[in-house]
Amino acid sequence: MSLMFNGIGVSRGVAVGDAYLLRRNQIDVTSRSLSKKSVPAEVRRYKRALKAARVQLLTARDNIPQDAPSDVSAFIETHILMLDDGVLSQRPVEIIKAELINAEAALQQQREELIKVFGSMEDVYLATRIDDVNHVIDSVLRALDDGAEHVVGSEHWKGQIIVADDLTPADTVTMQHHGVAGFITETGGQLSHTAILARSLGIPAIVGIPNIRRYVKSGETLTLDGHLGMVLAEPTDDMLADVKRQQKETRLRQRELGKLLDTEAVTIDGVKLTLSANIDIEEDLKALKRVNADGVGLYRTEFLYMNRDTVPTEQEHFKVYTKVLRALKGDMLTIRTADLGADKQMDGAVNMRVRPLAHNPAMGLRGIRLCLSDPTLFLPQLRAIFRASARGPIRLLLPMLTNLAEVDQCLKLIEQVKQTLRDENVDFDEKVPVGAMIEVPAAAIAAEQFAQRLDFLSIGTNDLIQYTLAIDRIDDQVNYLYDPLHPAVLTLIKNTIDAGQKSGIPVAMCGEMAGDSRYVRLLLGLGLTDFSMPPNLILETKHTLISCRRSTLKKQVNALLNASTPVEQRAQLDKINASASDN
Ligand code: PEP
Ligand code: MG
Repeated sequence: MSLMFNGIGVSRGVAVGDAYLLRRNQIDVTSRSLSKKSVPAEVRRYKRALKAARVQLLTARDNIPQDAPSDVSAFIETHILMLDDGVLSQRPVEIIKAELINAEAALQQQREELIKVFGSMEDVYLATRIDDVNHVIDSVLRALDDGAEHVVGSEHWKGQIIVADDLTPADTVTMQHHGVAGFITETGGQLSHTAILARSLGIPAIVGIPNIRRYVKSGETLTLDGHLGMVLAEPTDDMLADVKRQQKETRLRQRELGKLLDTEAVTIDGVKLTLSANIDIEEDLKALKRVNADGVGLYRTEFLYMNRDTVPTEQEHFKVYTKVLRALKGDMLTIRTADLGADKQMDGAVNMRVRPLAHNPAMGLRGIRLCLSDPTLFLPQLRAIFRASARGPIRLLLPMLTNLAEVDQCLKLIEQVKQTLRDENVDFDEKVPVGAMIEVPAAAIAAEQFAQRLDFLSIGTNDLIQYTLAIDRIDDQVNYLYDPLHPAVLTLIKNTIDAGQKSGIPVAMCGEMAGDSRYVRLLLGLGLTDFSMPPNLILETKHTLISCRRSTLKKQVNALLNASTPVEQRAQLDKINASASDN
């Protein structure tokens, strides 16, 4: 029987594939065949892992405080006994030898056996001991994996739909390398970084389907509609045929849009538009070339800090930036300095610098606050950006600015970096424009003062909406409150665009709203001409905007801003979107 689930569609496109159930930090237990020759080494590896897991338990036992209840050490003793028992110390070894498979797969097979045995026990207490068994087996699997606490890539993911509780941006990138067909997560929101990444990678994705892993099994066929936010498990042949038809339509639409590649981005009444790309990782550069983007409007450098335990060195930053510049062949590269923290949690070294239990990380030490608090994190990146500026046009973009003191502090550090480079006789562009992300309401309200000190502004609607409406962008429970049309949001956007015009500096938008076909006409009517978005949305946006007349949109948008109810406002938006092509 087919089952249907609804969630929040965060990355368009339809996908069909087998489900691959995964938990973040879950250890990969993919089965690998062994040659007879490699069996002794695999058995030794398994025994080493048992030993390591045992040492860990003994250490835990030895560190139990004196005054802890005696149950605590009894609990750990039980786990040590389980490790020593033949069911875990011997049986997996026999399976490795008999079936010529790797230790992880053998242990997993044994786990399934034990689950069956415990599951059939009538004694409720004994039946619940399966949790202990799972815990002990997990610790051995972790030891086999050398203690790594991350999602381990697997070639078996190719063409599969990953179903997880949650995924970090790092997981998403790893999976993309393995050719997954789509993602479904139990938690997460429209603007979580994982969702943004999935959109930018063009992987259909849905978030916010609580407990889906209880109802779907690994290997079961799933279809996923990333626009409607709908998942079908065990679809019928008719349903599958429908998905295939949609995939074909998408391909045809892409081909149609491809004809706009060399069309100039200019409205009917001659307003010249800039349609640039948001890039996160190197892969995005290929996509950017395919759509002929006007350079990069937002390079999220946080990804340089991912999947590693150390902070990238100046030279590493420099190498990556020069590589991106080479690919851009003279087009502008807007590098945003590291916006780490909150939903862009990275691994080891960087996270260590942020208090681990910040109650509200989105309002904590993130973005520019983290960088200003620790120049050893910030200065190598600034130096690398300026050194790279000798190789191609660069703009420097500062994230999460809230007040002018931060702006001044940044400008001072930038001047310091430039002076050191001058002293060292290192080439760089003296005129690298420095801009601010306007993504905190305070900055949007005070946009004019920001504009007077800086060379450009870029509106980050993802955070601006989060902070204006007090909704956590990664929390699916409050996603329904996410509303780019909220009068407060529109007022802040307008205020920022007007401030730029008044001060004579460019204002771009690089939040997701800038590539959302429902809002781009409205933004044009508000005076925005510089849109930056995931590369795969550029041609669609061009298609929409070149058929508009800005002068007409301006009037219609004024009517929308004056609407007194949300219903009236929506009706006005529909009018804007419906009439644009015949303006
Ligand atoms: C934004 O906040 O709109 C933005 C572009 O930055 P990020 O999504 O990386 O926080
Ligand atoms: Mg942001």
